[in-house]
Amino acid sequence: MNELDEELQTQYNPQERIDAAVRELEPEFWRHKKLSDMSKEEWEALCDGCGKCCLNKLEIKGKIRFTNAYCRFLDCKSCLCKIYPHRFEVVSDCRDIDLAAIREQPRWLPKTCAYWLLDNGYDLPDWHPLVSRKASSVVKAGMSLVGRQLINETKVKDYEDYIVDWEDL
Ligand code: SF4
Ligand code: SF4
Repeated sequence: MNELDEELQTQYNPQERIDAAVRELEPEFWRHKKLSDMSKEEWEALCDGCGKCCLNKLEIKGKIRFTNAYCRFLDCKSCLCKIYPHRFEVVSDCRDIDLAAIREQPRWLPKTCAYWLLDNGYDLPDWHPLVSRKASSVVKAGMSLVGRQLINETKVKDYEDYIVDWEDL
């Protein structure tokens, strides 16, 4: 584990985050509250931390194609952004996840993304940490980037060579 990894691990404990959300937020708030009515804390708790929105994408013939090339600032072991507080200043195309982003066409968020699911009338899946109450359930269900064949974007010459067709995108 390098210094940065250690810093990330100590600053952020995914299970503590879920425990706090379960303790402090209204049970199953996502079932009866619209995204637009959610508090900042509820909104933040919805992110399952899959990391898939940090993959580079191409728009081809009106459709978003994901690649397995990840943003250079993503820590692939934890799926955390290494520069989270400054991400928009450092990465010009890093996107805030707001309602406009969720509804943008063509869809660029993975179809497992909690925000996209709720906005499109679906419930959260069983493996979502707010449902399972376990931060590790995203990885166990194979829904995060952990364990996938990935490449750092700094090593990519042509993104078209790295297009992937994973079922959960
Ligand atoms: S795709 Fe959605 S759930 Fe996954 S990390 Fe991005 S915002 Fe969070
Ligand atoms: S800078 Fe943006 S795209 Fe890159 S890892 Fe951080 S959140 Fe993801």
